[in-house]
Amino acid sequence: MSWASKLVKPYRVEDGKKFRLKDFDPSDTGHLHSKQHAGELLERGIASMAELQDKLYAQDRWGVLLIFQAMDAAGKDGAIKHVMSGVNPQGCQVYSFKVPSDEELNHDYLWRTMQRVPERGRIGIFNRSYYEEVLVVRVHPDALKQQRIPPSLVTKDIWKERFEDINAFERYLARNGIVVRKFFLNLSKKEQKRRFLDRLEEPEKHWKFSAADIREREFWNGYMGAYEDMIVHTASNHAPWYVVPADNKWFTRVVVAAAIVDTLEDLKVAYPTVDAGKRKELQAARAILEKKNS
Ligand code: AMP
Ligand code: MG
Repeated sequence: MSWASKLVKPYRVEDGKKFRLKDFDPSDTGHLHSKQHAGELLERGIASMAELQDKLYAQDRWGVLLIFQAMDAAGKDGAIKHVMSGVNPQGCQVYSFKVPSDEELNHDYLWRTMQRVPERGRIGIFNRSYYEEVLVVRVHPDALKQQRIPPSLVTKDIWKERFEDINAFERYLARNGIVVRKFFLNLSKKEQKRRFLDRLEEPEKHWKFSAADIREREFWNGYMGAYEDMIVHTASNHAPWYVVPADNKWFTRVVVAAAIVDTLEDLKVAYPTVDAGKRKELQAARAILEKKNS
């Protein structure tokens, strides 16, 4: 088992049946006891990722979709920024899903997702995703009303049905060679308060603060229930959840990096080998270049 595989194992959930959020400590730092040690591992992870991504791109067969979900201030943006700092931007696509537009609300909820699924050879990142459909939409019934689904289809089973549809969608992606990995950055309510207060202190962080963030905080327990139920019903072998401790950013980042390295290692990506015809072409090219006066 690689270091990456070992590091992420405790946080990887493939079978949600027995998943309980209370068994996962947001302030956990695993076997790492210093920021410095984590920093060294993060660098190592970023270097491996760069190498593996280059092969993924060259091979052009698999696509990798990384989904990030979390409460506000859990560090999604920072984790994405740090972890992807070493990869080639040409092979990476990031998309942030916001409150659905009017046009998006005219469609079924996966419509806007489909166009953003990464191409083969690419790593795609969703900063929020269709999982909002069983999180914010579940916590705020008004958001569901806005979707104008025929009332006869909105029953007490709606969340169970959404889990089924999401599972079917992810199975479809898996069968098409799009590898899905999902990250829940698990922040404590106490640490969120500290980070909000920080944002209010520092002028450079004011832009990140919105009054809505404070309102959402009041729905904390509702959100935790929704997150737990989501993981219980949508963790799978082909699209596992990583429940990443988020109270220490340095630990969050190294776990996310390790999960991505582990995923890419499992794909056994390799540079394509060339056939005899192509080798001949390369030899001919060399001969031309090596000719005097060329
Ligand atoms: P931010 O990521 O802070 O820019 O905020 C984006 C906002 O869009 C969050 O409040 C999300 O809850 C909201 N959002 C994203 N997807 C959906 C959705 N499908 N339905 C309703 N709200 C959503
Ligand atoms: Mg926000």
